[in-house]
Amino acid sequence: MKKFIALGATVSVESGAGITASISDDEYRAAGAEVADNAVQGADIVLGVQGPEPELLAGANPGAWIVAGLDPFGQRARVDAYAAAGYEALAMEFMPRITRAQSMDILSSQSNLAGYKAVLVAANLYGRAFPMMMTAAGTVSAAKAFVMGVGVAGLQAIATARRLGAQVSATDVRSATKEQIQSLGAKPIFVENVAGIEGEGAGGYATEMSEEYQKAQAELVSSHIAKQDIVITTALIPGRPAPRLISDAQIATMKPGSVIFDLAVAQGGNVEGSAPDQVVEKHGVKIVGYSNTPAHLPADASALFSRNLYNFLSAFWDKEQGKPVLDEEIGNAIRLTQGGKVVNERLLG
Ligand code: NAD
Repeated sequence: MKKFIALGATVSVESGAGITASISDDEYRAAGAEVADNAVQGADIVLGVQGPEPELLAGANPGAWIVAGLDPFGQRARVDAYAAAGYEALAMEFMPRITRAQSMDILSSQSNLAGYKAVLVAANLYGRAFPMMMTAAGTVSAAKAFVMGVGVAGLQAIATARRLGAQVSATDVRSATKEQIQSLGAKPIFVENVAGIEGEGAGGYATEMSEEYQKAQAELVSSHIAKQDIVITTALIPGRPAPRLISDAQIATMKPGSVIFDLAVAQGGNVEGSAPDQVVEKHGVKIVGYSNTPAHLPADASALFSRNLYNFLSAFWDKEQGKPVLDEEIGNAIRLTQGGKVVNERLLG
């Protein structure tokens, strides 16, 4: 807040916006912001966590920027409405994965928190301990945790499960992650007989795998998963439904009392039977997943998200014009709508 004001902006905050992150309206006022019921009134830039409903933007200035996690593929109708109303919608999740944009990347900052929280929730639902304990009454063996998808969330899930004392293994389609898994003290479990994704692929993201790969992966998972107590799945493919990694038949081979956390549940789920914000019990195995996992760590999620927004806008702030001016590389990547039209090639292609 103070930083935006130091840039020369005036800032309005929707009344009650900070409640879940433990920030009161008075604290925003003390930092120099105006607190209002209709904070978008007269705004040139509207900042949000998720995309606001278009009708809530009625008081914003013509051509205003809408900057948030806009879920461009999932909320296409909303993007069209932003275009029709003449707004310039900027999707923070389309930030390119280049070094200078790392501090602006909401997917990284939020996935990191999500990976941590997933392990804590799974540990809480698990009726046993994570670390090995040798006690006078006997030995408690260490929990076995398996992380599927080793991007930002998966790496943090491995580190968190290790810190809690679990024996951790992990898998990914990108072979570059093998070394990362080992460096965190976990065991890599990889499909060896069919080629995965060498190097980092486009922008570091995964693509949909061949049928042959999927079959080999399913066989590998089947033999491994029956021995696991905790499974954390994080696999995503941009613009596509999440890949299905665990079937009901595979869940049936797991020990009763095991816990699966499906971090991809909001994108369709990696796990058959998972449902957003529910604990589903199948074959004695608890399957859990939140529609918005970072929101379960609201204070840190909010602090990191707002820093991402500030890092983005301040990097492009033009003092003379008193507003940000984007360069071509980042502008073209994140701009969804301009001049009444949808302009982003990922939505047009
Ligand atoms: P993501 O959230 O898109 O996907 C999660 C993980 O699931 C990925 O590792 C992906 O390879 C994996 N996955 C997809 N399909 C799978 C399948 N069928 N089976 C198993 N695993 C599957 O990924 P992410 O967390 O956004 O990170 C992707 C990469 O981008 C990482 O290497 C990360 O370090 C890199 N990254 C770079 C920057 C930057 O340079 N600015 C920022 C963030 C992330």
